[in-house]
Amino acid sequence: MDKGLHLYNTLTRTKELFEPLHAPNVGMYVCGPTVYSDVHLGNCRTFISFDLIFRYLKYSGYKVRYVRNITDAGHLEGDRDEGDDKFAKRAKLEQLEPMEIVQKYTLGFHDVLRMFNTLPPSIEPTATGHIIEQIEMIKVIMDNGYAYEANGTVYFDVEKYSASYNYTILTNRNLEDMLANTRELGGQDEKRGRLDFALWIKAKPETIMRWPSPWGIGFPGWHIECSAMSAKYLGEEFDIHGGGMDLAATHHTNEIAQSEACNHKQPAKYWMHTNMLTVNGARMSKSAGNGFLPGELFTGDHPLLDRGYSPMTVKFFMLQAHYRSTLDFSNEALDASEKGFRRLMNAVTLLDKLVPAAESDFEIDPIASNCIRAMNDDFNSPVVIAELFEATRIINIVYDGKGKISVAELGKLKKLVKDFVFDIFGLKDEEASNTELNDVLEMMIDIRKAAKENKDYATSDKIRVGLQSMGIQLKDSKEGTTWNKV
Ligand code: AMP
Ligand code: ZN
Repeated sequence: MDKGLHLYNTLTRTKELFEPLHAPNVGMYVCGPTVYSDVHLGNCRTFISFDLIFRYLKYSGYKVRYVRNITDAGHLEGDRDEGDDKFAKRAKLEQLEPMEIVQKYTLGFHDVLRMFNTLPPSIEPTATGHIIEQIEMIKVIMDNGYAYEANGTVYFDVEKYSASYNYTILTNRNLEDMLANTRELGGQDEKRGRLDFALWIKAKPETIMRWPSPWGIGFPGWHIECSAMSAKYLGEEFDIHGGGMDLAATHHTNEIAQSEACNHKQPAKYWMHTNMLTVNGARMSKSAGNGFLPGELFTGDHPLLDRGYSPMTVKFFMLQAHYRSTLDFSNEALDASEKGFRRLMNAVTLLDKLVPAAESDFEIDPIASNCIRAMNDDFNSPVVIAELFEATRIINIVYDGKGKISVAELGKLKKLVKDFVFDIFGLKDEEASNTELNDVLEMMIDIRKAAKENKDYATSDKIRVGLQSMGIQLKDSKEGTTWNKV
């Protein structure tokens, strides 16, 4: 039988029983977007995956504090503290203040996630709002002997840290190999070791986003913000730290190093990583130029798209894959998801129209426990969807009068749909929420009914056939006429 929630922990490379440090409270930190440009669909996949996790933890009775940051400073183009500051570069390009860039793309990010019906996090802290906390943390790391200053920039000393801790604990890579694969230090390099990374970076004369610090005017490195903000809002040790898989090797590896060098503790008990959305097998990313913007996907206005797909279709497409599997984008896959999603939503709209009988040909408990078991097995949403299609089949059979369902089983079926379709998956029926369409269709149905009563079959047929050609099917029964999108 079900043995409680198990999740895959990158740190131990196993599926583990989830045992929060301070149940029923759960602290979860997820690396948020770098808001220097529009989020692409790949980014959305990661945030939709953690929304599923957040929703299921809440459904399971935990009191979750979900912290998802906004990176609005310190993210340089190169992984090795080189290249332009992403915000400054974009600001120059758009002729805006860096903070206008941050504001513009933060709002855009929120708009997109709202379209996907994700829940807002409990706290959404920004890097620029926590400069003091980052400076304080760097000071402690230096006092503990794991960082050094060189000409106004502070570097984390990976070699020194590795003498007492395991720098590659998260990805289990070999440190020697990593060193061999990392470029040698150049003559200009201030770093002592090849793997050292910046905690604080000295401002150049042209740097706009700059703050005073004990080491002069500068700005924080990218990794330190997450260590400082997770500790501030969730404590030095918390339950879950998440992000996309691409962050594990550098950003999260460095976060662990910073937190341990500061607090002598592993920050998170469970590290969770979502897999990538790919296009023809290649990771979707801003730099590869294959990153659809969600808006382009909804309108279909992109060379790789045959047509547009609604936000819920796209979300359903994502939920049909497990969060740790790669998911390859294609028009065919989205077409299939659209059909599946409509089939599910049509059944959901029929639920309220089912007439219960004294007996039941169906039992809902096994379906519900299969769903729970799947979610408890590392949030296996595709298995839940297969179970929901079984529920869909039952709804259609009962609606077509080919099977019976009792009041009690119908109640369970309604609860199953509410819990999994709406509360845990966060799906919504875009057709049903289109109240204008609903109202117009109700009016057409009324006109058709009146026409039939007057034996004006030309009009009633015209309405039925006309709607059919628009993909709307009318169905007459004893209770009246209903409509379906086909
Ligand atoms: P960024 O704005 O680049 O810092 O990324 C925000 C989040 O999106 C991070 O957790 C990344 O790991 C994640 N991410 C980036 N590209 C993809 C992708 N193709 N598929 C899934 N997640 C991604
Ligand atoms: Zn982070």
